[in-house]
Amino acid sequence: MASKVFMADMKASSGSESLVKKLGKLFYKAGFHELIEEDDFVAIKQHFGEPGNTAFIRPVFTREIVQIAKKLKGKPFLTDANTLYTGERSNSVDHLNAAIGNGFGYATVQAPIIIADGLTGKGSTEVEVNLKHFDKVRIASEVLDADVLISLAHFKGHELAGFGGTFKNIGMGLGSRAGKQMMHSAVLPEITESECIKCMQCVKHCPEDCITINENESYIDHEICIGCGECVVTCPTDAISVEWESTSEGMEERQVEFTYGIVKDRKNVYINFITNVSPDCDCAGWSDRPIVNDIGILASKDPVALEQASLDLVNQAEPKGMLEDRDLKPGENKFKAVHPSTDGGVRQIDYAAEIGMGSKEYELVSL
Ligand code: SF4
Ligand code: SF4
Repeated sequence: MASKVFMADMKASSGSESLVKKLGKLFYKAGFHELIEEDDFVAIKQHFGEPGNTAFIRPVFTREIVQIAKKLKGKPFLTDANTLYTGERSNSVDHLNAAIGNGFGYATVQAPIIIADGLTGKGSTEVEVNLKHFDKVRIASEVLDADVLISLAHFKGHELAGFGGTFKNIGMGLGSRAGKQMMHSAVLPEITESECIKCMQCVKHCPEDCITINENESYIDHEICIGCGECVVTCPTDAISVEWESTSEGMEERQVEFTYGIVKDRKNVYINFITNVSPDCDCAGWSDRPIVNDIGILASKDPVALEQASLDLVNQAEPKGMLEDRDLKPGENKFKAVHPSTDGGVRQIDYAAEIGMGSKEYELVSL
């Protein structure tokens, strides 16, 4: 059966048609207001953007959702989890500073931020899923206490998964550091001996005592290593690397399994912003020109239908930016054109449908 996907387009000629106002209308039209009850903890999950990135969802949209959640007597908070890689969001202090720097301070969004996996990314809780890749997934702990999860996903390109939308925002975003390692690679970290300066930082931070550093050798005991990624972020010389999987499909499926572990047994709101559709993820400290003009905001209770509709709209749109001179036919996968080593993100939708998370058939309902 086709699922309803509600859409707010970009057309506006008066204040009542502003995209911020349309977002509020979309929330009610999709019936999300029925999900929030008095005193519910409402986790609003979005990517706050790596410093330097300008394509992430603007805080004014987040504030609109916060205000609605408060009006419905919920207790909204913004959330995300720390990154696996070294950058400016790999611990809560840096992450909060980056978020506030990008405009997500309380004065603007009117809700606190809680980084869901704690100060250093160790807050990880196992959730049973019993799926193809994992029996259990490791989720950033704090989000599991939320009654309602509102996913505000920026729909854009992603170098490993083709595109990043709802499944990326929830599954990859809210996996704990150990969980992110599980999704990114079936291979555990390795030390490149020639790059190791024997500083012992990795040994100090390894929770499993499985790293050996001495004058003659530096290695990780893969029999004991749990793949938490702690050593990867603490190594000052990048001597410890994760071997990324060569195809995107496996990672896409694992990302979906994490999403399943987070959304099952929870009340969920799924919203995709098809605006500033940059070729790369918001984890990049830059934003290239969008590959299509802004399309609008989509919302649905069905994450599969939402992702499929978003992908179809982007693929039907006229190519822009780095794709402007490419001879792409209408409907051709633009994310595959941008990231040829991926499948254009198709597998994540197919797999989510296969495990019963929703339907690829949808009915697009305009506001
Ligand atoms: S991934 Fe975690 S457990 Fe494995 S070596 Fe690194 S710090 Fe230790
Ligand atoms: S943190 Fe990096 S450089 Fe330091 S001992 Fe470990 S592998 Fe070597």
